[in-house]
Amino acid sequence: LEQFEDIGDLRNWVSGSKRSGKTVVFVPTMGALHEGHSACVRTGRAVMDSALVVSIYVNPTQFAPGEDLDRYPRSPDRDLALCRQWGVDAVFTPRQRDIYPENRPGPVWVAVENLTDPMCGAGRPGHFRGVATVVTKLFNIVSPDVAVFGQKDAQQALVIREVVKQLFLPVELRLAPINREPDGLARSSRNRYLNEEQRRVAVSLYSSLRHALDFVRSGERDPEKVTAAVAAELAAGDGVAVEYVELRNAGDLSALETVEGKAILAVAATVGTTRLIDNVVFRVDKNESVEETLLF
Ligand code: AMP
Repeated sequence: LEQFEDIGDLRNWVSGSKRSGKTVVFVPTMGALHEGHSACVRTGRAVMDSALVVSIYVNPTQFAPGEDLDRYPRSPDRDLALCRQWGVDAVFTPRQRDIYPENRPGPVWVAVENLTDPMCGAGRPGHFRGVATVVTKLFNIVSPDVAVFGQKDAQQALVIREVVKQLFLPVELRLAPINREPDGLARSSRNRYLNEEQRRVAVSLYSSLRHALDFVRSGERDPEKVTAAVAAELAAGDGVAVEYVELRNAGDLSALETVEGKAILAVAATVGTTRLIDNVVFRVDKNESVEETLLF
């Protein structure tokens, strides 16, 4: 396992890998690695003859003031051990001062409009600007052929897809399915904030989505009825505060009049003080069958 802190050193290694015919695959992360990240690595590993780079960087600009930047979990030694175990080829841990230099007239931002208005964008102002900006910087440093994101952060994946498309970034995006705990809770670095009782309650994000999918399968086509059912189920949990429940078009997150085509049902809720998100993406086809699917 190679380790790079320096942008130039990482770039030399990437160039060498490309010269020897490898496809460079990139999985950006904020560390505190878990099986969810491993799902992204596995999706990346499906690319033949690849050199796989994982970046570990807690990006300050995607945290709003008052969010958990200062206490975001960090486990650098364990992260390296996991990367070794997962067969990652290189780990990139860039320096703060290289990603956001201070000796410049002012910062450069990548902002995606409209797509970032609803859902997590509404509750976390500036979040997706921070994400789009750091991912663009990382893409320009790593210059991967393929980059992998998790469907867990569905709106993020759509935002990155738009950045790649509209800024003509020469990278192919792949999506990893949501990796879950045995009881269904989506794996997340933030799950380690949960105490035992909160951990038990947290599974309601997943179970309420499953029940909603059954509701749609039974013929319900009114988006508001579906989201209201999810919100009610979540609100019944002790210490659960619903931030949003949204059922939208899975391509552009536009509002739906009726449940049809490819749709995403997404939730955000705070359990205790921990903000959790989850989603299901499904397609209602012409014969009204409802199939779960990947976002793209
Ligand atoms: P993070 O370190 O939380 O920024 O996540 C890094 C990448 O891993 C993102 O593309 C996430 O969507 C993905 N990821 C995080 N958790 C999961 C999960 N449970 N299943 C699949 N992908 C995940």
